[in-house]
Parts: sequence; structure tokens; C-alpha cells
Amino acid sequence: MDVAAQWAGGALTIDLSAIAANYRYLTEIVTRGGAKTVCGAAIKADAYGLGAARVAPVLEEAGCPHFFVAHLSEGAALRNAISRAIPIFVLHGPPPGTSEDLLEAGLTPVLNSPEQLEEWRVLARKRGKALPAAIQLDSGMARFGLTADTIATLAETPDSYTGIDPVLVMSHLACADTPEHPANTAQLDAFRHLSALLPAAPRSLSASSGIFLGPDWHFDLARPGAALYGINPTPGQPNPMTPVVRLQARVIQTRIIPEGQSVGYGALFVARRPTRVALLGIGYGDGFHRSTSNRGCAVLPSHPDIRLPIIGRVSMDSLAIDITDLGDIPVPPGTPLDLIGPHNTLEEAADAAGTIGYELLTDLGGRYHRSYV
Ligand SMILES: *Cc1c(COP(=O)(O)O)cnc(C)c1O
Repeated sequence: MDVAAQWAGGALTIDLSAIAANYRYLTEIVTRGGAKTVCGAAIKADAYGLGAARVAPVLEEAGCPHFFVAHLSEGAALRNAISRAIPIFVLHGPPPGTSEDLLEAGLTPVLNSPEQLEEWRVLARKRGKALPAAIQLDSGMARFGLTADTIATLAETPDSYTGIDPVLVMSHLACADTPEHPANTAQLDAFRHLSALLPAAPRSLSASSGIFLGPDWHFDLARPGAALYGINPTPGQPNPMTPVVRLQARVIQTRIIPEGQSVGYGALFVARRPTRVALLGIGYGDGFHRSTSNRGCAVLPSHPDIRLPIIGRVSMDSLAIDITDLGDIPVPPGTPLDLIGPHNTLEEAADAAGTIGYELLTDLGGRYHRSYV
């Protein structure tokens, strides 16, 4: 942590080379045995909170040929951060009446519904040429995409896809993080069957976890997000990805409290022994969830084997740590503690908050001192 990091309550270190390494690793998996599959990247929600403008050029440099964002606004912002040539897909498609804006912003829509197909057909007619778009089908998740019924109707209707230059046919898996779940093969079968009824285009089914289901799920393009950012795509098994995020906060003050003394709002924690307490300047206002109260831990980097429990309620701007088990080790004000680091993973921190790495990362917000390495 450099000096400027002291001005903020906490510091977020984002390892861009780890993101590039994760990209290369996922590409290696999907190209095993000479397969021609490529990896795009989901960088919606500001690259899962890590900063799309910093992350996208790194992925571009690593060879990433496609980006996916959720909203037109995200795509328009991203377009300015990267070269003109790389397609940016807007997963939610054009909001009503915005097709023209989407095209002008240099973005490619994912068309999810008959209404969105119509928007794009109308614009193509106006422009007098076919316009590139991805088409999403619903293979069983019942989230976005054309349903089986709609696809059947469209297949019997002339000009359903006139003016649409299909550059990708895609769907999304509901249970890819649970390999034995029957939905995975059911969706695979549905995707094969339904995509054959759509205009021919490269096909994409898998995000991070789907890549680990095996080559049948890879098709032409995978769309990982989470795994690029170090989130474990194989929950319950060792994380095959390189960690990307370190979250540290400096000790503001320490004190020793007697047995029976409570700590923090609601007196939720009561000391059962004379307890040495350190206060850190991050809290739920920094996206460090209040559900972590009395759960989770911090680690002093020089003594990684000693887990230091979070005690009492997490406040908006601070939380308390029980550092008694450090014994006589000095912990002067300014000492950085890891809340997410090499010895306490993102998964553990998310678990302590009762959530998943995805939600914790996207919640971390803009209050930290950020450094990119
Ligand atoms: C978010 C998203 C992805 C990326 O998912 P991860 O699980 O983060 O890899 C891919 N495709 C779609 C449609 C998504 O919404």
C-alpha cells in the first residue's frame, strides 16, 4: 500500500496480469485437442466492479475478440476505452426506440425477443443493408431469449430474419456451476435443436462454469466473466483460477477491552476474555456487507496463519477485528490487514457475507484507493 492509499479507508489492488493469465488459461481449455473455440469476455457491471476501462485493454492485448456488456450505456462507455474493431455485444438488446443509438455507438445487440428482432429489422430497412446482431434463444433458463414456440413460428414466417446479419447464436446455462445437475445436458440438447432452426452463425452457450463442463458445451465461443476475475468457476472444488483482487484496510486504532464489554452497534459481540480490538476504516458503505457482522476474518500479512475474526456489527465506515491471538505482535495505527488476500480468499469473504464472489466483487464500489498492477 502506498501513501495515497492512507487517504482512503481501504485499498483495492487489482492484478491485471492475473486477469490476462486467467484469459490465457480459459483459452487453453477451450482449444484443447485442436478445437477452434475462442473466448470472449463478459465485462458488464464495470468488469464486475474492477474497472472495465482498465480491464478491457488488457483482455484485448491478450487476444480477446469479443466483449459482452449488459446495457447500452455500458457498451457506449466501453467503446471509448478500446479499439473500434472489437465487437461489443449488448446482452439486453436495444431498449425500445434506441436501435439507432446502439448502432451509432458502434455496438452489436443481442436480440432476445420478437420485439427486439423487429426493432433491428426496421433499422436495417431504413439503412438499406443487413445489420450485425447476435440472436439469443432460451434453452431452458427462462431468462432472456427467443422461446421454442417463438422460434418455431419465426421459422414458418417469411422475412423473420431479413435485415439481420446473424454473427452469433447464443444461450445461457442456469446450473453450470453444478456439473451433475440434469439441466446442463437438457439445455445442451435444447440449444443444439433450437439453434438449427435459426439462421446459421457461430454458436455460444457457456460462461465461466460451462467451460468446465467439457468440450460439448464449448461450441464456437465461450463468454467467461467471473473466472477471468479470479472467482472460482468450480464451486466446492479447488479454484483453478489465479486470484485477481486484494482488499486491505489499515488499522485506525486499537484498544484492550475487559471481559463482558460489548463492541459496536447493538452490542452484538460481547468479549469472553480480555480482548485486543483493532478498528478498520471500511464498512458496508464500501460494499463490505453488513451480513459479515460477527462473521468472516482479517489476516495480518506477516502472520497469515492467525485468523483474526470480525467482531460486532459492520458499521457504514468501519468494522472491528479481534486481534488478541496476535499476542505481543505490535499492530500500530496504519498497519494494513487483508480482508481479501492470499490467505483469506474472495470465496471465504463472500461466504462469510452469505453471498457469492460475484456479488461481493460487484458491490465493492468506488470508495477504495485502487491500484492496478
Ligand atoms: C454474465 C453473463 C456471462 C458471464 O458469466 P460468468 O458466470 O461471470 O462467466 C455470460 N453470458 C451471459 C448471457 C451473462 O449474462
